[in-house]
Amino acid sequence: MAVSAVLLIYWRNSMKPQDKLAIENMRLDGITPAEIASRLHLSPNTVYSHIRRHPKLPNARTCLNCGKPVKQFDGHKAKKYCSDKCRMAWWNSHQDEVKRKAFYTLTCSQCGKEFISYGNKDRKFCCRECYLDSRRPLQL
Ligand SMILES: [Zn+2]
Ligand SMILES: [Zn+2]
Repeated sequence: MAVSAVLLIYWRNSMKPQDKLAIENMRLDGITPAEIASRLHLSPNTVYSHIRRHPKLPNARTCLNCGKPVKQFDGHKAKKYCSDKCRMAWWNSHQDEVKRKAFYTLTCSQCGKEFISYGNKDRKFCCRECYLDSRRPLQL
């Protein structure tokens, strides 16, 4: 009895931003709304109505490698992988792509200057002006 009395005192009807994140992380873990409510000292109704309003886990991202939902933590950079293993696996299988995004030293076909193009070796012009110049009819 004492425990539920304490819980009642702490039950809140408003959520802090970190509560929302905690709810989403627990939902990813498959924890029931009632259990989430008691862990966060929130009223179950608050949790239920939050879930009803956000059925799709708005902050949840899925792992780039395996597609599993990835838990996010407040104040951290968005995590893209569910685990280090997935991060390594993704990098290993996308090494070509990562490398292809290297830069290329190309020659502008308008002004003849060398320029650096990131990830695109088919660029023809060093800048927008050269591109526009190339389309302008020659005025001799
Ligand atoms: Zn993963
Ligand atoms: Zn140019």
